Amino acid sequence: MSKFSNKAQDELDEILSQIRDCRICADRFAKTATKHDPRPVLWMRDTARLLIAGQAPGARVHESGQPFTDPSGDRLRDWLGLEEDRFYDRDKVAIVPMAFCFPGYNAKGADLPPPSVCARTWHKEIISALPKVRFTILVGGYAQKWHLGTSLPVSEAVADWRRYVDQGVMPLPHPSWRNTGWLKRNPWFESDVLPVLRAKVKEVLDDTDDTGHAA
Ligand code: SF4
Repeated sequence: MSKFSNKAQDELDEILSQIRDCRICADRFAKTATKHDPRPVLWMRDTARLLIAGQAPGARVHESGQPFTDPSGDRLRDWLGLEEDRFYDRDKVAIVPMAFCFPGYNAKGADLPPPSVCARTWHKEIISALPKVRFTILVGGYAQKWHLGTSLPVSEAVADWRRYVDQGVMPLPHPSWRNTGWLKRNPWFESDVLPVLRAKVKEVLDDTDDTGHAA
């Protein structure tokens, strides 16, 4: 490893250490039905070439401390064509949600949205500390809004995937069970999008050129 990549990892480690100590949302979380403490779930190294930009940890991930250890993760891994060992290879895959902590449930037991203060506080810094990313997967509307600067509904952004894929970006619906109906109503997602997505992910992860540029 060169002295430059060590420096990059040192800078990333410094940011990650600050996020680990972050308590910005402590009061907000204490007022949710789950009354939980902040627990940022961080999964990245400076060498990552695939970025999965998600929404926020759910309750199971809050417990496990590892991203996508839930049925949404199983579906996402299937979409990407990745087994767990490749999906969780931090040297190559960074997982950066729009909020690092579980936002909690409201009084009706529904998921609360990711607090926007998290992305405002940390996202730019984290993304610039991942200089080798060459393909970005945007999981759900919150990540699409931030990364694409679009207010397009998720369905429209995903339907427009051909426009984004050559720019190194793929918008996806959230892999939650709540979107099973959407997946059934939009069979083109499985037939047209997933084969391209799997090929792109394989190409990026298998590439032996580690300079951060496509070979
Ligand atoms: S969600 Fe983000 S801003 Fe809020 S406490 Fe967790 S790390 Fe801090």
